[in-house]
This record gives sequence, C-alpha cells and structure tokens, in this order.
Amino acid sequence: MGELILNLQVMNAQIISIGNELLIGDTVNTNASWLGEFLTGSGFNVTKVYTISDDFNDIKNTIRTSMNESDLVICTGGLGPTHDDMTKKAVADLFEVGYTLDEQTLEYIKKIFEERNIPFSKSNHGQAEVPENADVLFNKTGTAPGMWFHESDTYLAVLPGVPGEMKYLMRKRVASKLREAFGNIGYLYSHYIKTAGIGESTLSDEILGDLSEYFENGVSLAYLPSPGGVTLRLNSRGKTEEEAKDYLIKLIQIIYEKAGRYIYGEGKDHSLSEAVGELLVKDDLRISVAESCSGGLIANSFTDVAGSSKYFDGGIISYANSVKVGQLGVSEHDLNTVGAVSKEVALQMAKGVAEKLGTDIGISTTGIAGPGGGTKEKPVGTVWMGYYQKGGEHFAIKAMFTKDRLINKERTKMVLLETVRRILKKIDTMPYDLKKELP
Ligand code: ATP
Ligand code: MG
Repeated sequence: MGELILNLQVMNAQIISIGNELLIGDTVNTNASWLGEFLTGSGFNVTKVYTISDDFNDIKNTIRTSMNESDLVICTGGLGPTHDDMTKKAVADLFEVGYTLDEQTLEYIKKIFEERNIPFSKSNHGQAEVPENADVLFNKTGTAPGMWFHESDTYLAVLPGVPGEMKYLMRKRVASKLREAFGNIGYLYSHYIKTAGIGESTLSDEILGDLSEYFENGVSLAYLPSPGGVTLRLNSRGKTEEEAKDYLIKLIQIIYEKAGRYIYGEGKDHSLSEAVGELLVKDDLRISVAESCSGGLIANSFTDVAGSSKYFDGGIISYANSVKVGQLGVSEHDLNTVGAVSKEVALQMAKGVAEKLGTDIGISTTGIAGPGGGTKEKPVGTVWMGYYQKGGEHFAIKAMFTKDRLINKERTKMVLLETVRRILKKIDTMPYDLKKELP
C-alpha cells in the first residue's frame, strides 16, 4: 500500500489494456486515459499502465504482477467470443478455477439474439460463462459481462475493450464496488490556473520560485506548457472536496501575488480568447482581425466562444499581397521594399481592418510560418503582429518562434491575444517582454 497522507491511506491503482490493435497503432488507447482520469478523480494514485497483446501468458503474468504491485487493477479488452479473445481464459487459469454459467447474462444474450433474429451459437453461450470466483458486473450495453475479483487485499476488474461498454460498467457497476471495497479514500482536487506570454522556466524559476513550503496536506503543483501558454495544475487531497479545496487557498493566493499579471483565467477549458472577450465586453469595445500567417486561427478562436458576436465583428484573411493591398490598403511600395513580413505591413493591416470593418480595435499577423520561405534576415518563425485602437495605441511587435508551421500559428494566436489582454488590463509589459514598435 502507498504512503499515508492526512490519515488517509493512499491506494495505488494500475491499468492493463489488452489488444494487439493497441500495440500496432491501429487503435489509440483512449480507455487508459479515461480510466486514469476516472481513478485519479476517485482518489486513487495511478502508478502504471500496461499495454499488452492478446496473448494468454502475457495476460496471465501481467495481471499477476500488477496485482502484486497495487491495490486495484482495472483490465480492459479481449473479452469477446472469438478465438483471439483470451482474457477470461487467462484469468480463470491465474486463479486456478473452472467456469460457471451466469444465468442473467445468458437470458440477456438470448433475448438480444432473438430480437435481432440471429441463431444462438455455442460461442455465444460461452459469453455467459465466467470464472467461478467472479462477481459478475452485468453489462446492459453488450454481450460480454464485466467481472470483479478479490484476492487478499487486492481487487481486480475485468472489463470489455469497447469504450462505451467499459465506461458504462465503470460508472454503473465498478464505482459502487470501489466504495464498498475501499471506503472513503479521500478526494483528489485539481485546480487549473492559466497563464500566457511567459516561458515555463521564467515562470517557475524567476517569478514563482520555490513554493515547497506550501506543499503539505498532499498539495502539489505541476507546470503544463503548451503552444497556447503554461497551465498550472494544483492538486490537493482531503476527506471531502471542500477540505481538499481549503488546502489550496494559500498556494493560490501566493501564485496570484507573484504571477497575477500573467494569469488570464482559471479552469481547464478556459481560453485566452474567452478572457479577451470578457474584457472587450466590459469596455464596450469591438474587434476585428487581419490574418496572414495565422490563416484565420484567431478568428476561429473568437468564434469558439458562445456570445462572441457581442465583441467580434469579423476578419480578412489576407494571405496574398493582392488582398493586403486591395482589402486592407497596405502600401504596395512597402510590400516591394520592406516586404510583407515587416513592422510597416503589420501596422497597416491592423489599422486597415479596423477601418474597413468599422471596429474600435484591429489586430494583425504577418509572418513566415515555415518550413520553407525563410531568409537570413527573416528566418522561419519570424512573425510581426499589429495592434490598432481608434483614439488609442498603434504598435507592432516582432516575435521569433520555431521551425514548425502549426506551432508557429498557435504561438502567434497566443501572443497576439495576450497582447490585447494586457493592453485592455493596462499591464505595461508585453508577452515575453517583446518591445512595442511604434509607427
Ligand atoms: P467485445 O465483447 O465487444 O468483443 P472485447 O473485450 O473483446 O469486447 P476488444 O475486442 O478487445 O473488446 O475491443 C473491442 C473494440 O474496442 C475494438 O474496436 C477495439 O479497437 C476497441 N478497444 C479495445 N481496447 C481499447 C482501448 N484500450 N482504448 C480504446 N479502444 C479500445
Ligand atoms: Mg481485442
């Protein structure tokens, strides 16, 4: 068993995913990630995921090993009626037991076959047989029942691989078994704080520093970087959700004190465009976008948010120079001299779209997304972004991103939206401390 926190015994769980299709890359192992989240949320400490083939000996040995290593094992796949489905045989052999017929499952399968007008065969009869020591988890969503086993201090659930059936059995059958077997093992609470425009190492080393003095009562902090910014995941453990939340109050407070200006919101799914939208509504401002290298990604992220018509008017995807000139009034002379990826063009695009669409704010992107098209002066990853506000600021910023096209698009979106957020919040520094360049 695991370590003791708050007088709560931490229970270790492991997941075994069975199926050749998972190993050769045909099927993505979504069951394992779903189970990982389910078990973690139920208070378990998930320590390992095994992915193995439909091989009798592998299944038997892995279940044995996993049961020795943990308090709970959840196993999915290989329960079907065909010859390659080995899980049930392996489990019966492992426990050295014979089979017994589960009447409820037999009746149910027969009924399904009758309704579908399919003759009932011997292999289907086998579906209703389970190892003698199994506690049957009746499956209303398919023909293979789930099974629950108990041996000394360890529990094992054996479930079908079909994701819908597995989830049904976890929620409707296994969840109550877990409460029965493990009692209240506590509540694991996760809180997400989202930042943008600052690198992971600067945030952790320079801004937040060592926060380990707050890491008691099972409190922990993880940095989750992505092209859209760094998310902070705070975890804590308590006997109830309320208690777990209380343990995080001090840590959340200190994070806001130290890094408040980089935080745009809370919650796993909160987006930067949503945060910008709320600020635009508050100030009664409308925005439009002129996008070249980001190809509509910023407009798309605004329209992902319900109610965005309150502040987002539209955009012009000015990928070709002719569109930059014809639709946004960009100077042909500038395009021929300083080029499309330049401060001048970014500034003109932002002002041009605000005037053309009649919005208070216009923003723009123009850059070399890659992988080709780079030069010595303007390597792949060079992006200029423009900001124009009627009666307000007008500037451009230049960023140097990566060699990867899609990452560059995502980063452009993040940096430009974060720029808008900081202007609206009257925060004086730009994302990554980039310099504002005036016309
Ligand atoms: P059935 O009783 O329906 O035959 P089973 O236990 O035999 O169920 P499998 O044959 O292993 O299940 O898989 C059934 C389907 O579920 C397949 O389409 C497979 O790709 C999918 N599947 C199996 N395991 C996983 C997994 N770990 N993640 C996502 N999908 C999976
Ligand atoms: Mg299979």
